[in-house]
Amino acid sequence: MSLFEYAPAPESRSIVDIAPSYGLFIDGEFGEAKDTFKTINPADEEVLTEVALAAPEDVDRAVAAARRAFESWSALPGSERAKYLFRIARILQERSRELAVLESLDNGKPIKESRDVDLPLVAAHFFYYAGWADKLKYAGLGPDPRPLGVAGQVIPWNFPLLMLAWKIAPALATGNTVVLKPAETTPLSALFFADVCRQADLPPGVVNIVTGAGDTGRYLVEHPDVNKVAFTGSTEVGRQIARSVAGTGKKLTLELGGKAANIVFDDAPIDQAVEGIVNGIFFNQGHVCCAGSRLLVQESIAEELLTSLKRRMATLRVGDPLDKNTDIGAINSRAQLDRITELSEIGATEGAERWSPECSLPDRGFWFAPTIFTGVTQAHRIAREEIFGPVLSVLTFRTPAEAVEKANNTPYGLSAGIWTEKGSRILAVADKLRAGVVWANTFNKFDPTSPFGGYKESGYGREGGRHGLEAYLA
Ligand code: NAP
Ligand code: MG
Repeated sequence: MSLFEYAPAPESRSIVDIAPSYGLFIDGEFGEAKDTFKTINPADEEVLTEVALAAPEDVDRAVAAARRAFESWSALPGSERAKYLFRIARILQERSRELAVLESLDNGKPIKESRDVDLPLVAAHFFYYAGWADKLKYAGLGPDPRPLGVAGQVIPWNFPLLMLAWKIAPALATGNTVVLKPAETTPLSALFFADVCRQADLPPGVVNIVTGAGDTGRYLVEHPDVNKVAFTGSTEVGRQIARSVAGTGKKLTLELGGKAANIVFDDAPIDQAVEGIVNGIFFNQGHVCCAGSRLLVQESIAEELLTSLKRRMATLRVGDPLDKNTDIGAINSRAQLDRITELSEIGATEGAERWSPECSLPDRGFWFAPTIFTGVTQAHRIAREEIFGPVLSVLTFRTPAEAVEKANNTPYGLSAGIWTEKGSRILAVADKLRAGVVWANTFNKFDPTSPFGGYKESGYGREGGRHGLEAYLA
């Protein structure tokens, strides 16, 4: 349908130098492990490199290194810790093009997102928490808040470097030391971050990176010498972690899944709302915990809105993540593609109507066309379960009260969106939504100064902002 074709505009991958193999980053050094695993580029299934698989004894060494480093790191004046964080933030900015290309290669996300969203936010988080390091007394957490000790942090694959920043920046600013496990399919940016730490002369042991699979993560969070557990991932794994941490005295924050309602009222500016819907569900292939995956549209404008939405979806470009014109990149893994495919088939079987624009998908790699389901009811699995892919479920409502009821009818409560011209309606509806973040006439806006976190099965604790300090202080 597009009126003109875009010429390819690939970002050069020569800016990033990926070594044939990577070890574990423990006590300031890269060292080998007994076993390894491969990480691939999901856009073409090529192996990018081989990465060490941390065994329990490796995690033990990493936790021990973090424990030793804690003594001197926590004793440093905040203003000294801040210097390291500022230095890391500046190096991240200097290396942002390299890191953006790396992130797109390992994760499959479009370069325009890794370049314009992930990397700027990563640096912003380090700058922001660097600013807090010498002002902790004024954070409203008592006159002399103390760090907890060693933080064991486990992150998912959808925003590998950004989730690392959300975890590591506040931990270091508050005087804690860290052992972090990145996701199995996206370990590379964390390993490059280890190199950034070395470049910044961060004392050995303050940050340790242990790559591996779920077992490595489980061993880390269950480690008796870890004082604080920070986890971002699925609700299922979050539940297991909550159980294993219960009664140990470890402090725990959980950032889990979501099934956000994006609510469009009849007085909303349609074109803007369409952009917000597209951003809400197709940004990062829909691999976003706070994705607006349930569109609630007021019945009287449903037809008009869906016509506009479909027209807009037909212009989305799916393909090479390194092409600067790409809107939707590759699905992160075959396993995730299978899950999206399965839930979408269930949606059709349950009676919802499926629609995707015509789009040709590359032959190799993992791809899924942007998809919407109409005629969805609240009982449908595609309205209840997190799909974590570029799939939107559309429901309608007649009154604001019905919109609120449907929006809250979910086990999750991470985010929500409201589209209306009336400020009073924004306030009234936002007040009734059981969601950690509510966006009004926008969606997926992130800022290090703003706390982020869930209600109900979306987890507990807040990351970002002044609230994000609390998770790392006693
Ligand atoms: P996941 O399976 O829960 O994995 C998350 C991380 O935990 C990965 O590093 C994983 O390792 C590790 N892990 C797996 N089993 C573990 C265990 N028993 N103990 C400790 N760690 C374990 O989640 P995912 O499917 O990769 O990520 C998608 C989910 O994350 C979605 O539900 C999404 O909503 C959620 N998410 C939430 C937020 C938020 O801020 N609320 C942000 C982003 C994503 P492997 O990679 O090796 O399996
Ligand atoms: Mg990968």
